[in-house]
Amino acid sequence: MSAGQARCLEQALVEGYRLLTEGIPSVQVVEAAIRILEASGLFNAGLGSNRQLDQVQRMDASIMDGRTLQGGAVASIERVMHPITAARLVMERTPHVLLAGTPATRFARYCRVERLPRQGPMRRRAGRQGETRATATLVKLYRDMAHSMRTKQARGKETVGAVALDVRGAVAAGASTGGVNVMLPGRVGDTPLIGCGVYADDESGAVSMTGLGESIIRVSAAKEIACLLEQGWTPVRAADVLLTRLVRRTGGSAGALVLSASGAFAIRHVTPRMAAGHWNGIGSPTVRDHFR
Ligand code: ASP
Repeated sequence: MSAGQARCLEQALVEGYRLLTEGIPSVQVVEAAIRILEASGLFNAGLGSNRQLDQVQRMDASIMDGRTLQGGAVASIERVMHPITAARLVMERTPHVLLAGTPATRFARYCRVERLPRQGPMRRRAGRQGETRATATLVKLYRDMAHSMRTKQARGKETVGAVALDVRGAVAAGASTGGVNVMLPGRVGDTPLIGCGVYADDESGAVSMTGLGESIIRVSAAKEIACLLEQGWTPVRAADVLLTRLVRRTGGSAGALVLSASGAFAIRHVTPRMAAGHWNGIGSPTVRDHFR
């Protein structure tokens, strides 16, 4: 990881820990930490989000509160600096869990979530024939690029996520992404899907996933890890078992932040690297891109 990314991760950990010591609930701490990473432009989330094959940034995010099992998520939202805040607002201000596409963007605007600066010229509408032609071209382009997808995924900027345990014993998890490196317009990954990209339950723990969304969805990764925690497995063992199954059954790769309700913690990945860190207030934060 770059020195800038390492500094930014450290800043998020220090700020998150400071908020926890002030008695702020874990769900707010997770949001605050992720907002720092989204605004940096150094990760694949918020300002730094990947573009889909039509050159549009469409972002996904979700957050879950382990006290209540309440969750909020947004999928395919555009020009929003903090998708994680939009997700939290879906959780707090609506009876729903997930809002998607243009209405989700409008909801974020209505709630005055900060906008991303416009990048590049305004998109022109192509008309129905033009749109069909454009879709066919994109599907072909996608096929041509797909074979290199996994390699590129390993080398690209990374999705952001966080888990936290507060002084009252409540856990929370969140994640925010601009998706994978090569993707068709409209593609949505695991990140906004509660139970796939994130899960949090005070009776088990908190989990936030990164990696190939298509694989993470197919094994319902976050909820599966949480179930293993509930059965008394350690975070390391629970993550390793699930990641091994994900590789064996889907051929994909992923990484996980796992925090048990009792405070045991692990960062595990089967991707070549995973820029991540942790801190419990002792010494200085640990930030690395290998956790084995
Ligand atoms: N899981 C994200 C997605 O598939 C990407 C990532 O974590 O790098 O959209």
